[in-house]
Amino acid sequence: MEQKKFKTEVSELLQLIIHSLYSNKEIFLRELVSNASDALDKLKYLSLTDEKLKGISFEPRIDISFTEGEKRTLTISDNGLGMNHDDLTDNLGTIASSGTKKFLSSLTEEQKKDSNLIGQFGVGFYSAFMVSSKVEVISRKAGEEVAYKWTSTGKGSYTLEETTREEQGSTITLYLNDEGTEYANRWEIQQLVKKYSDHVAYPIFLSYDQEHVDDKQKDKDGNPVKTLEHKVEQINSSSALWRRSKSELKPEDYNEFYKNTSYDSEDPLFYIHTRAEGATEYTTLFFVPAKAPFDMNNADYRPGVKLFVKRVYITDDEKELLPTYLRFVRGIIDSEDLPLNVSREILQQNRVMSTIRNASVKKLLGEFQRIAEQNPEMYTKFITQYNRPLKEGLYGDYANRDALLELVRFKSSSQEGYVSLASYKERMAADQKSIYYITGGKESTLKSSPLLDAYRKKGYEVLLMDDDIDDIVVGSLGTYKELSLKAINKSGAVDDLKEENPKEATKESESIVKKIKEALGDKVKDVVISSRLVDSPAVVVVDENDPSVQMQQILKSMGQ
Ligand code: ADP
Ligand code: MG
Repeated sequence: MEQKKFKTEVSELLQLIIHSLYSNKEIFLRELVSNASDALDKLKYLSLTDEKLKGISFEPRIDISFTEGEKRTLTISDNGLGMNHDDLTDNLGTIASSGTKKFLSSLTEEQKKDSNLIGQFGVGFYSAFMVSSKVEVISRKAGEEVAYKWTSTGKGSYTLEETTREEQGSTITLYLNDEGTEYANRWEIQQLVKKYSDHVAYPIFLSYDQEHVDDKQKDKDGNPVKTLEHKVEQINSSSALWRRSKSELKPEDYNEFYKNTSYDSEDPLFYIHTRAEGATEYTTLFFVPAKAPFDMNNADYRPGVKLFVKRVYITDDEKELLPTYLRFVRGIIDSEDLPLNVSREILQQNRVMSTIRNASVKKLLGEFQRIAEQNPEMYTKFITQYNRPLKEGLYGDYANRDALLELVRFKSSSQEGYVSLASYKERMAADQKSIYYITGGKESTLKSSPLLDAYRKKGYEVLLMDDDIDDIVVGSLGTYKELSLKAINKSGAVDDLKEENPKEATKESESIVKKIKEALGDKVKDVVISSRLVDSPAVVVVDENDPSVQMQQILKSMGQ
């Protein structure tokens, strides 16, 4: 038997893990299952490409078992590629992942004590030591005869010795410590596998003993006979639907998957399934719910997109996966290129993640536009639910503003339902210079505003902006296709009407203006003769350079 020392960085990492990761210790199972799945991937690949391993036939599988009672253990076994003597030394004696290494060396001594920092960072194989007083790995590499046993208590060194194993693969046995006793439990294991590893490509089997009570057979005291039945049951669905090709999936498959994974009992309005190959490889499957999530506008709303790395669930609590204004989208992003142990900090700066994110936004907006053009009925349903978040995008996502401008919809003084800016532009009168809109109330109030009269008379359509965020949004826009957007309840828009409808300032009218000014005093900024009124005698408007009434209310409510 050989005794070997861990490389210093491993000892350091182990110290860190053991002392600071407790809040998230359950991730050890995800890490071990994903290693098993990687090993199966590797052997599957070699069995197709490697001369020596070409003939090998194997049914890839992962097995989990446990023992209860005094000595609690948990065992994870696979029939994948396995490791030989040197692999074990290299992989489990040093820190294999260069990302982990870099992360570790970037931490200051102070930061290393901060459990939050490391808590967000998965740590692969070594996470087993969070819940174990001893870890044993028995592994036999495919194509080789000798197997090896690696053992360590995680305290500075490990031992290696020859042993036997029937088949290629690895068996990891955890001798659970006080922190780990809870995992020698059928329900606990099932729940963790469901949470993290449900979509792993290979079947994961759990073996357990089930007590069987036979009423018909009595023992000598007349009690029913109890027997233990050994059961092996698959506990993951291994049905990462998004990994299957679009051509073999039917709409019902998508709808079922959506309902099973989203707590929504209704079919989605539509879905978008994309596989990207090339420099960055990933799959996305997005669903747009038929009804907007009821709490979509709450501060503590959790967006419904989950991040997977090679089918292994990583997180759903990551606001960075899609921009906030697309928070109503549900579904999954599955990356081939991200590390499993990706922290929030890393996600936010990660090039792979930002590539996926940008492409996903483009894809979603493109699909919304396609539906707007090809399926107006569906688009109306869509916009009734999601107009508001899309408008938020107009001031949040500058890069996609042009696309968003085509997607948002408004009410109109001359049309039923919702209109787009593009259709407004088409309907514009020949002499019309700008896009007109009015804000500051409900649709019905706006529709009966006396301010509309002059525009109606000239055949100018006015957009009725009745949404409380319209002011902020449209105010920040300025133009649509070089047409300026003008609020008719502000003083500037009237300039467009003036030449056509000149009102001479007569002596009489000037004296009236003077009297009104005196009567109102500093309650108003100015009183002027208007060309915008047709049947109404007077109207209150906001100065072009001042915030609108609604904006003033918003500012006031914020204490400004
Ligand atoms: P990572 O999976 O990110 O490389 P880990 O710490 O989880 O880091 O594992 C370290 C290495 O140990 C793996 O890269 C792999 O080479 C090896 N390994 C771990 N578990 C297994 C296993 N079940 N079968 C074969 N190799 C394994
Ligand atoms: Mg790993």
